[in-house]
Amino acid sequence: MPDPVAVQDLPAHTDVLVIGGGAIGAAVAYHLRLADPGVAVTVVERDPTYELASTPRASGGVRRLFSLPENIALSQYSIDVFADFARLMAVDGEPAEIGWKRNGYLFIVPPESVGMLRENFETQEALGCHVVWLDPDGVKDRFPSMYTGDLGGAVLSPDDGWLDPHAVLMGLRAKAVSLGARFVADEVVALDRQGAAVTGAHLASGRVVTFDQVVVAAGAWADQVCAMVDVATPITALRRFEHFFVPQDPIEPLPYLKDTQRLAFRPEGRGYSGGVPTLAEPRGVNFAIDHRYFEDVVWPALAHRFPQFERTKCLSTLPGLYDQNDLDGNVIIGPVADLGNFHLLAGFSGHGLMHAPGCGRAMAELLLTGGYRTIDLSRFGWQRVADGTPLPERGII
Ligand SMILES: Cc1cc2nc3c(=O)[nH]c(=O)nc-3n(C[C@H](O)[C@H](O)[C@H](O)COP(=O)(O)OP(=O)(O)OC[C@H]3O[C@@H](n4cnc5c(N)ncnc54)[C@H](O)[C@@H]3O)c2cc1C
Repeated sequence: MPDPVAVQDLPAHTDVLVIGGGAIGAAVAYHLRLADPGVAVTVVERDPTYELASTPRASGGVRRLFSLPENIALSQYSIDVFADFARLMAVDGEPAEIGWKRNGYLFIVPPESVGMLRENFETQEALGCHVVWLDPDGVKDRFPSMYTGDLGGAVLSPDDGWLDPHAVLMGLRAKAVSLGARFVADEVVALDRQGAAVTGAHLASGRVVTFDQVVVAAGAWADQVCAMVDVATPITALRRFEHFFVPQDPIEPLPYLKDTQRLAFRPEGRGYSGGVPTLAEPRGVNFAIDHRYFEDVVWPALAHRFPQFERTKCLSTLPGLYDQNDLDGNVIIGPVADLGNFHLLAGFSGHGLMHAPGCGRAMAELLLTGGYRTIDLSRFGWQRVADGTPLPERGII
């Protein structure tokens, strides 16, 4: 089996250069080589340990509960991939286990948001998702510990769940390497631009690589890479904490739970993993830990919903970065501005891990055929950024 973090030599020229080797860059490399074993793919990743990358710091939630058909379709495809990941990403017969837990997702909303939830539910049903509408009594029947007095409704998506993000990254990367993608440990520090094309990358080591196409899969650092060709994006680094906490008393088995105040958590071992991401957070790369955040924001929300959390203990707080698209909270995919061969695949705003397989395939289609063949992601392209016309999710994000 190839070393999942195998580091290879840099060629002088590559067909496609991928900047950033997290879940997104690895998924692009995998799909490119799967679709066309003749295409030369080089991924430049500055930190093969992924210490600060967002992927290993993700919560691992994977759901179909979106309002935009594109996001629902990306989830449907990606969840099928995750369910069969061990086999699909096996290398030399070694299965790629990712701890996939199909324990469901539950969105709960107050009475004033029931209309929005119902509309989204109908869209999800129309697109073939297995979703279950629950009134507050129905929620109480299934989850007797939950306080439901302030709820108006809920939607359960029983086939959704969560997985181990680091294992997903290692699986995608190892499979991409086994298919012939080349991962190089270095940092892109400058890009050459000639008119409407970007032609070469300068690396921190002093080496230079030229390419036909380039994909920016640099996550929360995507804006910094785009700035190398004088393009400003609405993508910012947004710090978010993932907490691990244990309640005083046991709770019945729970799905991944989310509400309109952005409380989001799921079972993990003998406790729970989750938090309350906030858009009020100042933007920028910041890995400092605010130990009061759990006590001031997360704990009251948990204790309100479940009495078992009244004396919960937070055992760890891990900071990580969203690649937040401040225009509308959705990914930006495809060529940027007037640069025909400079493609962006970032701005996932908290959904990147679950959409990595679908977006990796979409980007491969775009690069190899000039258009989308399976899921049409045209509305997620740069044009909406240029026009200043957001395409946001409705409801819980
Ligand atoms: C706390 C938290 C919880 C989350 N929970 C979920 C969840 O439940 N479900 C979900 O779907 N998503 C979740 N996310 C979001 C998810 O983690 C991201 O959307 C996803 O991991 C993005 O993958 P990526 O490959 O684009 O970014 P990354 O994993 O950050 O990879 C980008 C890589 O680019 C490299 N890089 C940057 N600049 C350069 C350069 N100049 N040269 C070379 N390399 C460079 C970096 O080293 C990095 O490894 C969560 C995120 C956080 C922080």
